[in-house]
Amino acid sequence: MPTRNRTSHSDQPTSDVPTEATAPSETARRLFLRRGGASLAAALTVGSASSVLAAGPNGADTNQVKLPLIQDPDTEQKEETPDANLPPDERVGYAIVGLGRLSLDQILPALAQCKYSKVAALVSGDRTKALRVARQYGVREADIYDYQNFERLADNPRVQVVYIVLPNGMHKEFTLRSANIGKHVLCEKPMANSAADCEAMVRAMKRANRKLMIAYRSQYEPMDRMIVKMVKEKQLGLLREFVAGNSQNVGDPGQWRLKKSLAGGGAMPDIGLYCLNAARFLSGEEPLEVVASVHRPENDPRFVEVEESVHFILRFPSGFTATCMSSYASHESRFFRLQGSKGWVEMDPAFGYNGLRLRHGMLVEGKSATTELQIDPQNQFAREIDHMSVCVKDDIQPHTPGEEGLQDQRIIDAIYESARTGRAVKLAQPSAPTRGPEPQQETF
Ligand code: NAD
Repeated sequence: MPTRNRTSHSDQPTSDVPTEATAPSETARRLFLRRGGASLAAALTVGSASSVLAAGPNGADTNQVKLPLIQDPDTEQKEETPDANLPPDERVGYAIVGLGRLSLDQILPALAQCKYSKVAALVSGDRTKALRVARQYGVREADIYDYQNFERLADNPRVQVVYIVLPNGMHKEFTLRSANIGKHVLCEKPMANSAADCEAMVRAMKRANRKLMIAYRSQYEPMDRMIVKMVKEKQLGLLREFVAGNSQNVGDPGQWRLKKSLAGGGAMPDIGLYCLNAARFLSGEEPLEVVASVHRPENDPRFVEVEESVHFILRFPSGFTATCMSSYASHESRFFRLQGSKGWVEMDPAFGYNGLRLRHGMLVEGKSATTELQIDPQNQFAREIDHMSVCVKDDIQPHTPGEEGLQDQRIIDAIYESARTGRAVKLAQPSAPTRGPEPQQETF
């Protein structure tokens, strides 16, 4: 994971922004830069010390070619060598189900960057489109399926995982069908439209003895992982508050995202989910109670079936709270701030595919100070898909299994109940942890 921490270059001018009008003296400033650098540098080891999984599936490193270093390792940032790719015939094969925007614009290009994964089949209702996509990615015509003959994938040994990239309301059906034909499943978020559907998906995959992972890409993104580590190491002190927003203006009133049966709801399950999931995985706590309200304007043809916006407040056992908002009718805005007794971290923008920014506020030599961390971009989809492949190859539970999606959906159900009744809704603590071991952090 190549990283650049601006604050570690203490003799260089930086654009770090002290948050007080009186900037620290030059000596204090240098100290601040060093300390800020040190605390964030510690967090940067997230991929090594705290990962339960070693990088890559068993045997991937036997293909590693090692070359001598060019730069002086005593004075320069360590040169990063990408982890070794698995040869194509040893990679885990994926059938991509649904060739919409996410598949075409993100997932298929990301598969081309993966180290342990490959596209092995396409499932689409539009054969002409599927043939064009197949040519782009080297998929054989024989490996194109439609929604009716999906079960024929059972006879295709090149496919081990079905990646479900369909409207939310179809996730359950295709998970159950995948379980029936003995394939592992990587399922897009949100997992389904109700907690009952999520439970059925978890049960079916357990019965089939196949893995189920929900595609929470932010949980595989390096800045988010770094914050998880900072929280575990108490670098922010005791967690107090989380504030988050995820909004965008939706257009075409005819799209499936605005149909209740296909989407499950409006802004909440689609983009509000990022705030909810981040509050849980960054804090490592599960909420006890939620209070929420939703808004559906009259006379807006986009919001006949689903809510325009949602506000919710989660209360956690330690006293930590999360205040979240999400709207389908505000200009694009994605951010969060996590505040603790000793410091805060903020991502703005957060939740996006790229361009993420992370800032850390803390006290240095009696002065409030802010430091910004830059990390070379990593493809979140490639990391997430390769994580699933490592889990399949090495028989490990995914970091974001079905139980993680189910817990979010239980809370979403409670959010809608609170909005309907105008009351706070109590939430049971999950009977077991909802996440698997820490994900590996490959170097791309
Ligand atoms: P999309 O509308 O672009 O694509 C949906 C695909 O499903 C299309 O190919 C469409 O033809 C097909 N489909 C099959 N039956 C359909 C039906 N009855 N109605 C409508 N479409 C049907 O949607 P998308 O943006 O690719 O989203 C797909 C899934 O991915 C959703 O669950 C969404 O929440 C999720 N998603 C995740 C991310 C992320 O960052 N992880 C981003 C975007 C979307």
